[in-house]
Amino acid sequence: MRYTQFLIPTLREVPADAEVVSHQLMLRSGMIRKLAAGIYSTLPLGERVMRKTAQIVREEMNRAGALELTLPFVQPAELWHESGRWNAYGKELLRLKDRNEREFCLGPTHEEVITDVARGLISSYKQLPVTLYQLHIKFRDEIRPRFGVMRAREFVMKDAYSFDADEAAAERSYMKMYEAYTNIFARLGLRFRAVEADSGPIGGSFSHEFMVLADTGEDVIVTCTACDYAANTEKAEIRVPDAVEAAADQFGALARVATPDMRTIDEVCSFLKTGPASVIKTLVFDTGEGAVVALVRGDHDINEIKLKNYLACSELALADEDLIEKVTGAPRGFAGPEGLSGVRIIADYGLKGCFNMVAGGNERDMHVVNLNFVRDFNVDAFADIRLAGQGDACPRCGKPLTTTRGIEVGHIFKLGTKYSTSMRAEFLDARGESHPMVMGCYGIGVGRTVAAAIEQSHDGDGIIFPAPIAPFTVLIVLVNPTDAQQHQIAVDLYEKLLGHGVEVLLDDRDERPGIKFKDADLIGIPLRVTVGRNAVKDGLIDIKWRKTGAQAQAALTDAVENVLEALPNL
Ligand code: ATP
Ligand code: MG
Repeated sequence: MRYTQFLIPTLREVPADAEVVSHQLMLRSGMIRKLAAGIYSTLPLGERVMRKTAQIVREEMNRAGALELTLPFVQPAELWHESGRWNAYGKELLRLKDRNEREFCLGPTHEEVITDVARGLISSYKQLPVTLYQLHIKFRDEIRPRFGVMRAREFVMKDAYSFDADEAAAERSYMKMYEAYTNIFARLGLRFRAVEADSGPIGGSFSHEFMVLADTGEDVIVTCTACDYAANTEKAEIRVPDAVEAAADQFGALARVATPDMRTIDEVCSFLKTGPASVIKTLVFDTGEGAVVALVRGDHDINEIKLKNYLACSELALADEDLIEKVTGAPRGFAGPEGLSGVRIIADYGLKGCFNMVAGGNERDMHVVNLNFVRDFNVDAFADIRLAGQGDACPRCGKPLTTTRGIEVGHIFKLGTKYSTSMRAEFLDARGESHPMVMGCYGIGVGRTVAAAIEQSHDGDGIIFPAPIAPFTVLIVLVNPTDAQQHQIAVDLYEKLLGHGVEVLLDDRDERPGIKFKDADLIGIPLRVTVGRNAVKDGLIDIKWRKTGAQAQAALTDAVENVLEALPNL
């Protein structure tokens, strides 16, 4: 491709509304342009990168035996009513009506549609297992679209769905996708980790997120410093602590202390001159079927997902003022476990063995001190309901956990029979009995993966594309296109490399060399070959590796060979 025939609208300035470096660089290198919040056009340079990424995904899906198809983007509401998600999905689902007032939505995901396809096509166990996938657009009306294509509203996803006859077969399909994902992200040249994710009511570790490691990532990953345990914060478990009981002879006298207008842990701690680890944080939740009180240590944070899973309730939200008042008899900020009745109390493991604690006094402007478990209050259960973090004990080996940041680029999930039951996607087994198919779903965001790759691989000058997804492999910079000899040498080299199947971009623009080199660094093509005065005078060209900055001179006569030799190690 000749630069003069291509379209790479690079920008010198850092766009003001781009917070993260991948977003800045994708705009500056002319890969994308914004149309509206969370909605982007992919320009020719970006398109090449997206396609290469998608192609690697496609190849690995095909290798795992998955079959490509394309499903409609616009989906009828009826299917979503069948699955029960039309109302449950919330505002991310963009609903619309056609001219006949029939309701539709833009597909944020395709479980309903694929289940509908499967129930129409699959009727016998002989047709199973089957995994179907597409590479297509999704629309999610994200509350905070940001970071460019990393969290967009319209984006391309590879979504795959597996159908199996039973649990054991579904687990095999899941493992195949796990392996395919591992191959994909390795081939893309990314540093990543598969982490256990929350799988809601399904349980077990049948949900993994594939996280690209990056400091700017929105997600926190909890990993063990000793073994290979890794999970996202929602899921990360904490080792059940040994049973330690506080000695009653250390208990101080329970007392009530006036704490006017002090509602936060910080306020109470500075007033009572104590630390947050000595406070019991008391949270009232509404489960839709009554209130539940959760207790965590003041220096810990509740993990609502763990609490919800523990309670096995379908809804869970922090209680409103009315419910708090009803349960505790006090306004928000003064709740405590002492004297509560008629409500379930779940305490986090972190409170085991704590004594002489501070908590709300269930009365306006009042706290209690020297509060002790058993003597002063009881709980229904201790459980793991807090966010795991730095220093907590690994659930597998007990060694300390640590946290790092990541970008979720892929997610695999065992669905079980959730959709096949509600939508009656059934098959007949060998004895002629009918069963719902056991399903799994598997997503990769193509744009987010590209952004994550840039987040992980760039420098102050621009993008450093991993070779497998680089828009071109080699960039030839023709320093002075008006010099007929230079021009001829560069075009010769360009054509020879094309003849060897190398993807080459020839910068034949009539621009100052400084601009060409700046753009070269910005768009991050792995290998740069400069054809300048030396080529004419001494028959020499310069080769520069974008990743390492290494440079070499080569004789023009060996140029093709040298470039070809460099390719496998880019
Ligand atoms: P997140 O928690 O980041 O919102 P999610 O759990 O909603 O992600 P999934 O429904 O599992 O995501 O979607 C599968 C994949 O699609 C994600 O791993 C991610 O790569 C991609 N993806 C999801 N939402 C977006 C988005 N708003 N913009 C770009 N890619 C997205
Ligand atoms: Mg989401």
